[in-house]
Amino acid sequence: MRLTVLGCAGSFPGPEAPCSAYLVEADGFRLLVDFGPGSMSTLQRFSGLYNVDAILLTHLHCDHMLDACSYIVARRYAPSGPLPPLPVYAPVAAPERISAAYGGENEPMAISDVYTFYALQPGSFPIGPLHVTVDRVNHPIETYGVRIEHEGRVITYSADTAACDQLIRLAQGADLFLCEASYLDGADNPPDLHLTGREAAEHATKAEVGRLLLTHLVPAWGSEALTLEAAQAAFEGPIDIVRPGARYDI
Ligand SMILES: [Zn+2]
Ligand SMILES: [Zn+2]
Repeated sequence: MRLTVLGCAGSFPGPEAPCSAYLVEADGFRLLVDFGPGSMSTLQRFSGLYNVDAILLTHLHCDHMLDACSYIVARRYAPSGPLPPLPVYAPVAAPERISAAYGGENEPMAISDVYTFYALQPGSFPIGPLHVTVDRVNHPIETYGVRIEHEGRVITYSADTAACDQLIRLAQGADLFLCEASYLDGADNPPDLHLTGREAAEHATKAEVGRLLLTHLVPAWGSEALTLEAAQAAFEGPIDIVRPGARYDI
């Protein structure tokens, strides 16, 4: 499998990174996981405008899904003609939310010509050649952490979450653990929302992952150096803070 980071800024776009979006590829199949603001730009730069076979949205906060609205235009009005509907795995409210955000003046517009939606619920299912497991994590709205397996290799993505056992289970033995680290230790952080670098690393240690990839830092408010230092104190394996364009082959 290959993971390509398209966007990784937490909560709102940063000066050098769009919001969350990650491309997972195996056997020529391309799953886009989250589609945050600005990531349609880096999709074109690091993959290709139409190089997507399915989309999975972990939750419907705007920093994880808004470019799914922009993408409607790109697919519906493609110069070669409209593209076939793309499968979108997302919380049950996704069709209404995306069409409302895209929509017409007085009512949401139909988008079933562009997307075919499948409502997420905890469990396992195939997406192309990928074996995907999702479970609810600790965030104020319906949010799914994701475990993606292919030929014995595993990538786990935390989505947005505070500490929870579901995340440890999803990440158990993962080769790559892409985990949010929005907060700094010591700050007056609200509960049940996000993780710090230390907490991300503690989940990585408990799940015995191979490599920890920290994401969803908030550039305007955070500190990469402090986040990394806190994580290194709680996980002995390799740790990266991800950047747009970074690729990881496992
Ligand atoms: Zn977020
Ligand atoms: Zn969120």
